[in-house]
Amino acid sequence: MASISLTNVQKSYVNGHAVIRDVNLEVGKNEFCVFLGPSGCGKSTLLRMIAGLESITGGELRIDGQVMNDVEPAKRRVAMVFQNYALYPHMSVYENMAFGLRQAKIDKATIDTKVRRAAASLQLDQLLERRPAALSGGQRQRVAIGRAIVREPGVFLFDEPLSNLDAALRVQTRTEIARLHREFGDASAVYVTHDQIEAMALADKIVLLQTDTNQSGHGSIAQIGAPLDLYHRPASRFVAGFIGSPKMNFLPGIVKSIDEGGVEIELTTGEIIRARVDGRQVSPGMQVTLGVRPEHMRLAGEADDVQSIRCSVRLVEHMGEHSYIHVEGGSRTPAMLIAKLAGDSHLVRDEQVRLALPANACHVFDNRDFALRRLD
Ligand code: ADP
Repeated sequence: MASISLTNVQKSYVNGHAVIRDVNLEVGKNEFCVFLGPSGCGKSTLLRMIAGLESITGGELRIDGQVMNDVEPAKRRVAMVFQNYALYPHMSVYENMAFGLRQAKIDKATIDTKVRRAAASLQLDQLLERRPAALSGGQRQRVAIGRAIVREPGVFLFDEPLSNLDAALRVQTRTEIARLHREFGDASAVYVTHDQIEAMALADKIVLLQTDTNQSGHGSIAQIGAPLDLYHRPASRFVAGFIGSPKMNFLPGIVKSIDEGGVEIELTTGEIIRARVDGRQVSPGMQVTLGVRPEHMRLAGEADDVQSIRCSVRLVEHMGEHSYIHVEGGSRTPAMLIAKLAGDSHLVRDEQVRLALPANACHVFDNRDFALRRLD
């Protein structure tokens, strides 16, 4: 049985404006599910509906098989960790962690064991008497996580918990959350972020949300899958562009021919490029978009027998282990592309290069921006 299940879930605020429409999704026991998407697509609203902090205006939410739509938050066996920690400033770390258990009338000895065990696991044992004001941001967030752990919930809900931390602490706390999750037993976790790196690092399953642009602007699911599924097999141009950094390059073109091994596309840049995708959903003459990730392009020598675009280097960014080269290329209408090359690039501005676009690295999106299935 899935631990959390949402069926046709909807949310409209009092003005009648739908912000979430028809969300269907299951989160299994011990699964770490990340809600990812651009700002305003409804991630927090969806999380708060699971927590019981927002009403559900349509559809059904079940936790461990039980309908929860109208169950009060305290009775859902969920614990939430917020971006701003939400600690009680006048209470010590110990009291903050013990508070929920005291409210639930758990006996003192049990509370003490649970608080001390969670504190040890979060390296907070030396800080139990301190007030939140005397803690760093990372320590405060660990207290908030500890407060969730002691309640032994069925579901952990995280609402952008790392956003207020600096870069180094973000990575450290992220690793901590991943470690703790493995110790959660059957509990599932739902984690909201707009940061795809965080999502890729933590998730068993990513739910990528988008804002519908052609309708009323409500949030809906763009794709659900394991992180590498979304990376290798994006369902649409939106998913392809959202997952991966730098972003996938997109080049418009028309289908020239289709055979069993893939499709041939004439790009507006003038080049003809082959892609190993299933062409059954398109026909010759149809407008499509070719997509290639920066990390899947490489420099080709003059003698290399590969499909490529000739380009002029416009900018080189040296990143240490790799370089990003921004180029302008094409024999007809030039387009801007970014390639990520291994090592430190010695290319200079205005240098002429040949960039290879291997057929099996190319994605193709139809005229409605849906991806054609890639052939393995
Ligand atoms: P995200 O977490 O993805 O950034 P939110 O869930 O916070 O997005 O918000 C989704 C949409 O719902 C936004 O367009 C936001 O303006 C709207 N919204 C959020 N809360 C309210 C509210 N109380 N009343 C009306 N609209 C709201």
